[in-house]
Amino acid sequence: MTTEVLRSILLANKLGRVKVKWEHDVGENVENVIILGSGPAGLTAAIYSARANLNPLMIEGDEAGGQLMTTTEVENYPGFAKGIQGPELMMVTREQAARFGTRFITRNATKVDLSKRPFKIWIGEQLYQTQTLIISTGASAKYLGLPSEKTFLGRGVSACATCDGAFFKNQQVAVVGGGDTAMEEANFLTRFAAKVWIIHRRDSFRASKIMADRVLKNPKIEVIWNSTIEEVMGEGVVKSIKLKNLLTQKEQVMPMDGVFVAIGHKPNTDLFAGQLEMNDVGYLLTKGKTTYTSVPGVFAAGDVQDPNYRQAITAAGTGCMAAIDAERWLEANGGH
Ligand code: NDP
Repeated sequence: MTTEVLRSILLANKLGRVKVKWEHDVGENVENVIILGSGPAGLTAAIYSARANLNPLMIEGDEAGGQLMTTTEVENYPGFAKGIQGPELMMVTREQAARFGTRFITRNATKVDLSKRPFKIWIGEQLYQTQTLIISTGASAKYLGLPSEKTFLGRGVSACATCDGAFFKNQQVAVVGGGDTAMEEANFLTRFAAKVWIIHRRDSFRASKIMADRVLKNPKIEVIWNSTIEEVMGEGVVKSIKLKNLLTQKEQVMPMDGVFVAIGHKPNTDLFAGQLEMNDVGYLLTKGKTTYTSVPGVFAAGDVQDPNYRQAITAAGTGCMAAIDAERWLEANGGH
């Protein structure tokens, strides 16, 4: 696939225009395994469970492919010596899952009932039933919640420096947040931007010392402590931000070309509230070195259960684990 084609897929996906054809298979039968979510974790679970003859059904979501669909070059996924574009990695992995018979539905699940087997999954009015469920719904970047932030999303406001950093060559950008992600994004952005401002609401970073030190030593980065962004302003694209100092309550407007929001991720687990055990911020809890959740027969893989590593390769690894766990669980519980 040419870089041009990939770029247009990437852009179309960002604009919400990629609609993968869906091969709708309305199952009255009870499935062996349904996989929710189609990033590296879900697709790897699909490859393994398809090759184990479990005939998996994947509900891949309206925006199939997960976070890698908004990434450009992936250089740290083993097996690609020269790197690979995120969307292409997801497409070939999907093809690999399809090759072994995975069936796909390109819609979002809207409701689940995990209170007894078979588990019930709804897409609107349509009900699907399954003996085992693999949840790989991933996580999404958090935003500040300002109306102006929404207005300029994709027009200077971004939550992914890797995706959009290169658009800010020799410009001024702000990174919001004080955690490791903010440090990583700020450092990365100095490759392109003339100046990077970190806006943090407190007077110390939450980030690990090594990453914070790297930022503080970088001559292209300056930190604005105890401050928040009150408004993003511009004409068509971002031109400036309104900052508020939380100690003095003073506001000031700063010229700015880009705003990178790096205040953490939210696991996509709203669907399972009250049905599966989660930590205080909503990540699914898994048992020991397995993908078992608090409900027997329901497994979790990828970022939805991982606040720490959040890498494509670790997601894929846990997807493999979930498929093996589901297969063994079915064997032991007479489901297959
Ligand atoms: P964190 O939750 O660690 O940090 C979020 C930061 O955003 C905090 O500084 C927080 O401020 C700030 N924040 C949160 N909400 C708001 C808001 N509404 N307005 C302004 N600021 C806000 O998230 P990260 O994504 O940075 O990291 C998540 C995990 O991933 C961590 O465990 C981290 O170590 C790990 N990680 C590791 C990396 C690595 O090792 N290479 C790279 C990236 C992440 P406050 O501090 O005041 O709460």
